[in-house]
Amino acid sequence: MNRKKDPNMNKRGKLYYSFPAISMIPLLLYGIVVIIFSSASFKHSMQEQVYAELKNVASLVDTLLDTAYPGDYTLAGDTALSLYKGDIDITSDYTLIDDVRERTDMDVTLFYQDTRILTTIKNWEGERIIGTQAPEQVMADVLQEGKSCFYDNVIIKGTSYFAYYAPLYNSDGQIAGILFVGKPATEVNSQVNRALSPIVIVGILTLVLVCLFSIYYASTFLKALYGLKTFFSQVATGNLSEELDPAVLKRGDELSELGRSALSMQNSLRNLVERDSLTELYNRRSGGRHLINSMEKAKTMNTPFTLVIGDIDFFKKVNDTYGHLCGDEVLKKVAFLLREHMKSKGYAIRWGGEEFLLVYENSRLEEAYESLNTLLEDIRNTCIQSDKHQIYITMTFGMACDSSKELKELLKDADDRLYYGKNNGRNQIVTCCDENSLQHKEEEEPENGQ
Ligand code: GH3
Ligand code: MG
Ligand code: MG
Repeated sequence: MNRKKDPNMNKRGKLYYSFPAISMIPLLLYGIVVIIFSSASFKHSMQEQVYAELKNVASLVDTLLDTAYPGDYTLAGDTALSLYKGDIDITSDYTLIDDVRERTDMDVTLFYQDTRILTTIKNWEGERIIGTQAPEQVMADVLQEGKSCFYDNVIIKGTSYFAYYAPLYNSDGQIAGILFVGKPATEVNSQVNRALSPIVIVGILTLVLVCLFSIYYASTFLKALYGLKTFFSQVATGNLSEELDPAVLKRGDELSELGRSALSMQNSLRNLVERDSLTELYNRRSGGRHLINSMEKAKTMNTPFTLVIGDIDFFKKVNDTYGHLCGDEVLKKVAFLLREHMKSKGYAIRWGGEEFLLVYENSRLEEAYESLNTLLEDIRNTCIQSDKHQIYITMTFGMACDSSKELKELLKDADDRLYYGKNNGRNQIVTCCDENSLQHKEEEEPENGQ
């Protein structure tokens, strides 16, 4: 069957864009903010740890110097000044600070006032950078104000350092110099990044997974929604045989409930349009369409096809005797018997008032005749109870089966045979009749059977 597609059906609506956006954007923002803040806080706590280590090492060096060389820091000498700690000249004694450098991986410098006297820091040529000055900010903070300070970007000979500077006191409480302990910033940063990268990678992977899940959920949701939209569009244009995407019904959520309601709405509409309200059989219009399809199918598949027209005998009398309502009950009962009988054989149509079409798909005349005989027997023997009346009826049937004929001709054949049966005692099945016996019918009802 050709079906007209609704041109608006595949148009993408607002939800197509807003639904994934609603589910993704807050998630992405939240994920990015969490990653940035947790990275920053982790980095900060790592730096705090580095500062604590610098401070510990500084205090250790201070203690070691006091233990190894008890006494105050003094400068002595006439031409080349030397730094003394107590009585010992420590100007070129690098043993202690080199040992600390070796063990802690941190550089150590001892300033007398603002001048580097002992240091583990070397220039490109491998010479210790002694005799150079402390940065101005350090002099102001440590020498003048007597504070111990951390700095995260002290440039020493072109290299950036994480540094801790603490004042060195003599026994009279005067500041004699500065003790520096530091680590190149590149080392600290790479240490921080090494610790941080697994956290960032796991965070990003989790975000990607959550986003993928969200995209998957949004796409299945939208697919179901568009399935429903297509279905409703088709039903709205009168296509009552449109099928709903089975995936919608499998979801088990509100959308599948909506799908089920849509299907039952389609079914009710179909019944309303296609079925006769009294008998619930196909009405003449939809029955006619089914009949055309069945016939085309039989022709293309080369299968037998038998058509029967049945009419209740003396039905007017039933109405006249028992009333119209009882007549309706009789029609319902007959329709029930016909429907039950046609199950797995074909279908029944209410063709007119008390006239029915039986369509035997895939049945030759003889098979259909045999089966129809049992139906007629059932009808004869069925007691129809209505309004305290017990009513028995009979029916007359005309049959036609000729695959070479068009539907119109086949209907006419069946109708002629029904007419013949009516004129020859009723309560029977007629499979063929004499043409001459129908002349009278032509004069009476020239359009019967259309
Ligand atoms: P025959 O054996 O020749 O078919 O006689 P008949 O009385 O059955 O035929 P006739 O055509 O004279 O009468 C058919 C009657 O069926 C007339 C009409 O009022 C009645 N009828 C048609 N539709 C309905 C219906 O829906 N309900 C009821 N109760 N009666 C109906
Ligand atoms: Mg009748
Ligand atoms: Mg009739």
